Amino acid sequence: MDIRETHEHDVLVIGAGGAGLRAAIAAKEGGASVGLVCKSLLGKAHTVMAEGGIASALGNVREEDNWRVHFRDTMRGGKGLNDWRMARIHAEESPDRVRELEAWGAVFDRTEDGRMNQRPFGGHTYARLAHVGDRTGLEMIRTLQDHAVHEDVEVFMECTAFRLFKVDGRIAGALAYWRTTGEFVLFRAKSIVLATGGIGKGWKVTSNSWEYTGDGMAMAYDVGADLLGLEFVQFHPTGMVWPPSVAGTLVTEGVRGEGGILTNSEGERFMFRYIPELYKADTADTEEEADRWVGGDRKNNRRPPELLTRDIVAKAIVAEVEAGRGTPHGGAYLNIAAKRDPEFIKSKLPSMYHQFKELAGVDITTEAMEVGPTTHYVMGGIKVDPETAETVVPGLYAAGEVAAGLHGGNRLGGNSLSDLVVFGRRAGLAAAASAKEQGATPDVPSSELESALEEVNAPFARDGGHNPFGIQEELKTVMNAKVGIARTAEGLAEAVGDIRALRNALKACSVDGGRAYNPGWNTWVDLHSLLQVCEAVALSAAAREESRGAHTRIDFPETNPELVKHSTVVRNEGGRMTTIKEPLPQPPEELRTLIEEGV
Ligand SMILES: Cc1cc2nc3c(=O)[nH]c(=O)nc-3n(C[C@H](O)[C@H](O)[C@H](O)COP(=O)(O)OP(=O)(O)OC[C@H]3O[C@@H](n4cnc5c(N)ncnc54)[C@H](O)[C@@H]3O)c2cc1C
Repeated sequence: MDIRETHEHDVLVIGAGGAGLRAAIAAKEGGASVGLVCKSLLGKAHTVMAEGGIASALGNVREEDNWRVHFRDTMRGGKGLNDWRMARIHAEESPDRVRELEAWGAVFDRTEDGRMNQRPFGGHTYARLAHVGDRTGLEMIRTLQDHAVHEDVEVFMECTAFRLFKVDGRIAGALAYWRTTGEFVLFRAKSIVLATGGIGKGWKVTSNSWEYTGDGMAMAYDVGADLLGLEFVQFHPTGMVWPPSVAGTLVTEGVRGEGGILTNSEGERFMFRYIPELYKADTADTEEEADRWVGGDRKNNRRPPELLTRDIVAKAIVAEVEAGRGTPHGGAYLNIAAKRDPEFIKSKLPSMYHQFKELAGVDITTEAMEVGPTTHYVMGGIKVDPETAETVVPGLYAAGEVAAGLHGGNRLGGNSLSDLVVFGRRAGLAAAASAKEQGATPDVPSSELESALEEVNAPFARDGGHNPFGIQEELKTVMNAKVGIARTAEGLAEAVGDIRALRNALKACSVDGGRAYNPGWNTWVDLHSLLQVCEAVALSAAAREESRGAHTRIDFPETNPELVKHSTVVRNEGGRMTTIKEPLPQPPEELRTLIEEGV
């Protein structure tokens, strides 16, 4: 058989962003031997790109903050579709996880009296995001990486996992290939934690990088895990819209958190026209009031409307562009120079300053930026147990962006980084505890390995088939046009048909050369995942006949109060992808009142 190497661990973690690293550290703490596999170099994950900060109710800037307010904000932001148990755990545990990062060496920005500083972000009642300028993710990954390496986690870099195996119903291993040589490697394990991140590479305009092809979700689905809430893909309101080569690159919400305002081509600060009833009590409704908040005492003022949740701001920008009030390149103006002096901007937003200067020739200390929505994050993903992060497949866990439940219909900024450390830790601990209860690691049957290898080698045996890069481009066009920010039944049905046709085309693809450093073959392998997950997104979006959070249906523009009680699950039923409307656990009375009426 064509497998050169086999490794064995109690716990295998696939993915080395914040969730994977935190899971690996926890599994080590739990006494397990741990392997950590990542598709790119260690340290090059989406977590490193995180800019604005990590949300937790530390109460350093506003002492009134506590887990109850954070819980309420998360549930309101998620439009009620969050798993309330995850939202509660997350709000309760994130302050400890952030303090732990600090104890492990992360150097966060400070308040004047020396505590960790916190900045305001959309949908958070109080200033809540601990941050390091606009490079928070870099500090977080550096800290976690150092800690994991010192804990003796065995790391396998540039190694792509593409198939999971079960023995007697329990997870037993993963097959991967080395990017540099194309050689195959088998990881045998008693428990596996998936932490592979999201799916943004399915869309043309995205803030995500090449790793985000939905691999974890597809691998889990293939061995029987359920996918949940995939109709909820977050379109971040502020991506760069120009020049075309960098369209989609993120402009952190920190710009608005630090005082940036949104205007249209007529110079109007349009967000005042888009304040929904739910947020009226918390949101400034005049420019004068909003400016008092930016310039001075944040304690006594309501937040500016630019800090409404991402779904609301993204849709407002689209509405302005459609009404003919967009910028020359089809977006809105984001202006921080109007509210802050150059020194403040350079010290609080250094990466944004350089990003615009170098990529667009725009000096954000004197000029406005042009911004528009970009595919950014997926709230849906693998369905997990709220306490342990275990999937329905025994021994298989998922944490971070690849998992679903916490964020419901829309994620609040900063709640991803805290999600990674809260649920990454829980997943690692549970995976180690479960591994301890197992006997010897089972052998993956050689017949299954052989058939997996035959499939993954198949494009080399064909001549003149489709080109994987062409399929990838077609998929992105379909997803942007038909499964984007505004959807219809007709468009979604067409998208499902288009994606299925592309899946057939993928089966007929041919790839030249050998497996060593072969981007054509790497893309072909990734596309198996991406097409599968994109089909699940389109089917889930078709199944939810309402508009809620990040999911907007032009043909069902209203929110249906009945549908808050259900989530959409995608299940592999005998090889057929099916959607199921599943009841969503509802919070107890006391927490329901908290969400509806406030603290
Ligand atoms: C530009 C940008 C800015 C952001 N800013 C913020 C912010 O300020 N605050 C916030 O809370 N959130 C922010 N987010 C979101 C947040 O960064 C991500 O949701 C989060 O980092 C995801 O972490 P993760 O551990 O789940 O995945 P990642 O950090 O992306 O890690 C995924 C890992 O899985 C590996 N992998 C993938 N597929 C495979 C495979 N098949 N085999 C092996 N390994 C694999 C990758 O190589 C990588 O190591 C931002 C996102 C972006 C893109």
